[in-house]
Amino acid sequence: MSLRARLALVLSGVIVGPLLASWTALCLIVPRAERTYATETAPRVAVSTSTALFHRCREVGDASAAVASELVAGVALDGRLGPVRSDTALRRAAERHPDLTLVVLDPEGRVLASRGPVLVGMGPGGVARVTAEQSGLSCAESTANPSRAALAETVKIPLPRSATARVVGWLPLDRERVTGIDGVRSLPAGTTVALLAGPAAGAGQREVVASPGTVPAPVIEAVAGGRSTGWAGDTSYFSLQPRQAGLPFTVLAVTSRTGNGTGVGFAALVAGTTGIAALLVGLLAVRLTRPLAHLAKAAERLGGGDLTARAGLSGRDEVGRLSDAFDTMADRLEATIRQLSGSRDALSDTFERFGEALGRTHDLDGLLRTVLETAMSGTDAVVGVALLGDAYRLEERIRATSDDADAEAAGAVPGLVELATAAVARGGRMGSAEIPCAGPALGLPLKREGRTVGALAVARGVGDPPYDEQALAAIGALVAQAGTAVANVRMHEEARRLSVTDPLTGAGNFRHLSSTLAKEVERASRFRRPLSVLMLDLDNFKQVNDTQGHAFGDAVLREFANRLRVCLREVDTVARYGGEEFAVILPETDGEGAARVAARVVSAVRAAPFQVGGTVRTVTVSVGVAAYPSHGRTGAEIMRAADGALYSAKRTGRDRWCLATTSGGQSVSAR
Ligand code: GH3
Ligand code: MG
Ligand code: MG
Repeated sequence: MSLRARLALVLSGVIVGPLLASWTALCLIVPRAERTYATETAPRVAVSTSTALFHRCREVGDASAAVASELVAGVALDGRLGPVRSDTALRRAAERHPDLTLVVLDPEGRVLASRGPVLVGMGPGGVARVTAEQSGLSCAESTANPSRAALAETVKIPLPRSATARVVGWLPLDRERVTGIDGVRSLPAGTTVALLAGPAAGAGQREVVASPGTVPAPVIEAVAGGRSTGWAGDTSYFSLQPRQAGLPFTVLAVTSRTGNGTGVGFAALVAGTTGIAALLVGLLAVRLTRPLAHLAKAAERLGGGDLTARAGLSGRDEVGRLSDAFDTMADRLEATIRQLSGSRDALSDTFERFGEALGRTHDLDGLLRTVLETAMSGTDAVVGVALLGDAYRLEERIRATSDDADAEAAGAVPGLVELATAAVARGGRMGSAEIPCAGPALGLPLKREGRTVGALAVARGVGDPPYDEQALAAIGALVAQAGTAVANVRMHEEARRLSVTDPLTGAGNFRHLSSTLAKEVERASRFRRPLSVLMLDLDNFKQVNDTQGHAFGDAVLREFANRLRVCLREVDTVARYGGEEFAVILPETDGEGAARVAARVVSAVRAAPFQVGGTVRTVTVSVGVAAYPSHGRTGAEIMRAADGALYSAKRTGRDRWCLATTSGGQSVSAR
């Protein structure tokens, strides 16, 4: 079940539930109260109506008595009761009681005067007489079988000679008059009063004169059946025959259980309130759960790998704070993942560099560059140098700046070299908080088995933070490995150098001569460039050995190689061919040029005697010169031609050079 549904359920339980419960309770209580009301109201209304009618009846009696008194007083004056006097008395009474019918009857029952509607019938002898209905009535006495319900009183007027006249006051109880009676006029809602004509319930004619409603037929039937109180459907009834008052009818009060409408109105109110409450509950549930749903969606997106997902809800309530906390957490997560990703890329880059470095075991500079760049990226440095050498002499080999280094970073190199030198002198890491043109710097010696083979120095940018323990550990581990790698490459290079070097003189050996000559011939052939070779042999060297000793001979050989180098260019190759014989390869040099070199060498050897210790001796050399392609098209052919020329030089007296001929014979020979 979703949170929204759960919340709606809880809120419904808290708000709508009690409302429904009270609604149900009220639905049970209200009808009962209405029922009680109906049961209690009908008798009360019946009694009060009966009382009000009695008082009205007394008024009728009083009015009649007043007329009678006035007429009696008149008769006492002159002994006559005439129509004029009667009419005058009635007029005065009618002014006070305009709704009453008042009639004055003479001793024979004839109408002397009247006010109001008088029911007149024909009496014996054709005399008009008031009907029995209106004669002899009295509220004080029960009158049998009146044809109509009425309040009436008859007052006697004593006359001389025992005659008696009468005054009859009469108020018919029709609907309008009943309505006007106090107590009936202010009936409670849902209550109706009916007057049933006839002296007793269950007998006589029933006429309903009531207000404001109607009396249900079942009630009439129940009362006619002799029952005075009870229920007929939803209507409570109570009938009262006012016997003591002598009123000629039965008062019937009926009250409807729902007559006042309280129950229906209240039920509607409760139902409406419940509906509004349910609506508010729904709105509240939506309002409360919407931000949570938004938050849940953002969390799902983040969980699905979308690092940009944020809740972004504002507010100081719990949900707003939860949203802020979530967004902060997402920010940190994003930053951490990006950092990890960056570290992973850097690690991968480092692996790649070391893979390359492994392939550069013959490339010392390449290895140094890889080590330096790795050290820089691992320590966030912007500039660095790598140096080779030992504890006494260091030489800068590589310098590097990072992509994001500023233009001034290169100016930090001298400071870095100084720092690296200081680190080597100290035998361990040296740090500097700042160097010219850069920020925090580190110098570290590169060592192998305790021996210094070089040094590294790196620096961060100006204003960058100092190196932390992590960076120091990383570069320390790198430098330890790098020292071994650099030493290995140097050893490898030395071994290779030795494999092609004559150990006595430092010149190339025969293998070096052969491979170099093959390469140069190939190059000269491809690019149609000149190439020459000198073959040199010290003259009478056996004698030197024999005379000055073998050690002197060795020294002469070394010195001879040195003098050769002095006479040659960088690109020329010197090799010891064997014994006291040497060969020189002269790229980009034709036979003529080679002859000039040969002459220079012969002169240089002859010019200064060789001295070792106290021993001094003049040594000379003979040289054979051959050129590509005129004296040979392969290395072997050229060497053979040069050797032939050397032989010619020896044969013609030594201490000279000789140029080979195309036919293999000598052509030029000079000292
Ligand atoms: P030529 O003028 O005809 O060349 O006479 P030569 O004596 O130089 O010629 P030879 O080939 O007869 O002698 C070469 C000598 O060089 C023999 C040997 O003792 C000497 N020799 C060869 N290699 C070395 C070396 O490594 N050290 C020394 N000290 N002498 C060597
Ligand atoms: Mg020789
Ligand atoms: Mg010799």
